Amino acid sequence: AAKIKVANPVVELDGDEMTRIIWQKIREDLILPFLDIDLKYYDLGIEHRDATDDQVTVDAAEAIKKYRVGVKCATITPDEARVKEFGLKKMWLSPNGTIRNILGGTVFRAPIVLDDLPRPVPGWTKPIIIGRHAFGDQYRCQNFAVDKPGKFTMQFTPEDGSAPQTWDIFNFPDAGGVGLAMYNTTESITGFAHACFKMALEKKVPLYLSTKNTILKAYDGRFKDIFENLYETVYKKDFEAQGTWFNHRLIDDLVAQAIKSDGGFVWACKNYDGDVQSDIVAQGYGSLGMMTSELITPDGQIIESEAAHGTVTRHYREHQKGNETSTNSVASIYAWTRGLAFRGKLDKNDELVYFANALEEACLDAISAGKMTKDLALIYHGKQMKREHYVTTMEYIDEVAKILKHKLSAKGI
Ligand code: NAD
Repeated sequence: AAKIKVANPVVELDGDEMTRIIWQKIREDLILPFLDIDLKYYDLGIEHRDATDDQVTVDAAEAIKKYRVGVKCATITPDEARVKEFGLKKMWLSPNGTIRNILGGTVFRAPIVLDDLPRPVPGWTKPIIIGRHAFGDQYRCQNFAVDKPGKFTMQFTPEDGSAPQTWDIFNFPDAGGVGLAMYNTTESITGFAHACFKMALEKKVPLYLSTKNTILKAYDGRFKDIFENLYETVYKKDFEAQGTWFNHRLIDDLVAQAIKSDGGFVWACKNYDGDVQSDIVAQGYGSLGMMTSELITPDGQIIESEAAHGTVTRHYREHQKGNETSTNSVASIYAWTRGLAFRGKLDKNDELVYFANALEEACLDAISAGKMTKDLALIYHGKQMKREHYVTTMEYIDEVAKILKHKLSAKGI
């Protein structure tokens, strides 16, 4: 059958360890046999980042900016042990951080939901997509501890020369105590809000913003005002046309509502809340191997998608010893499908969107038919799990390829 023609390029960012092995097999067995596609390849494997003084990461980010779609394999973020292991010139920064700094935008983490997979939160039958405002607040604060009495004040000095504003925060008694000052910017909160509205529209689900504006009236109040104002002036029509909505909720109300809900919404979280909630939500759905991560820019025009997990080093060590592995490749496959579906939407390429959906379905159909990796088999079978309940890393991808071929030929592709 003829391959599906993809008019514009997709930027491919290769990575490390077990996920690098999976990544190559996905490209060779699930993508290239079916798509006539121009992949702009960047090798973000740790050795090549080191060899290029990390320039390859910057180049890859610039390429994503240019072509608007990037798909990324998990990569090692070096620590001291990795510097030693690979003899690195430097402890290079996290590639994800570098790319996010160049593209801007917000990272959304979304679970891939299997209907019959037992979940710690059984009611969550639809994804909860967490958008974390990854700027400012506690992560850019000054904090201190003092051990003697004294006065803690806060001051704002306007650039226009008008009188400074000062606030008396606290008079510390004998043994002192701790203090904190933090900030955010109107620009960053606005960009975050745009990205959240765009993601909720893209996924056709409601959007909730959580804050504690009853306590932080000015600080969290500004978050609430910016979101509400943008909703009223820019986004309300589009949401209403989809039968969805935006609402602000107190964080304590929203955590309670989320637990009781069946999922199916985007949750805009302030920086610290997002840090905490994204791990709660990930656990609530069951497996890290079933969680994707999508970076979307405030204008909604650029996407970078990847698996939310790392390079699965523990499995890679087994692979290196020549032992069998059973690593879940679903989130890595979805990194491709989410990027390709976005490419398809940008290019108005329905066949490509169909392909991306068919590949996602093939992943889930394989699991429903009992072909799954060990992490999932453990969730289904618990202590009763036996070797025949799971397949190897490669057997799973082979099975997905078989189902995908079937689906596409039924469509005449
Ligand atoms: P990890 O996500 O690779 O593994 C965490 C745990 O989850 C392990 O027990 C692992 O066995 C399990 N797990 C994760 N994904 C799985 C899958 N697909 N199938 C089966 N089990 C899976 O995180 P880690 O071990 O903390 O880090 C390993 C490396 O990954 C580190 O070098 C780190 O820098 C890197 N990392 C990269 C990213 C990224 O590129 N986005 C994210 C996190 C960690």
